Amino acid sequence: MRIVADLDLCQGHAVCAAEAPEVFTVPNRGKVEVLDTEPAPAARTAVTDAVRYCPTQALSIIDGDQHRPTTLSRKDNHHG
Ligand code: SF4
Repeated sequence: MRIVADLDLCQGHAVCAAEAPEVFTVPNRGKVEVLDTEPAPAARTAVTDAVRYCPTQALSIIDGDQHRPTTLSRKDNHHG
């Protein structure tokens, strides 16, 4: 499980920090900071709630193999 926060969407409501204070922190009038981008499975319920209750849907959870980067591999990226 990996956490991704879209700071363009975050409006600093700090709902996430209330739900999962070990994973999210929100400075006064600031935007969310993810303290732990790959939290332990035990934190999953709290993190899921944080994602669900974020009023701007700025947070997402990425699971399993989907966390591979989608950028092209540098090696194979030269065109003749
Ligand atoms: S709940 Fe959503 S909008 Fe509020 S601080 Fe967290 S990520 Fe940002």
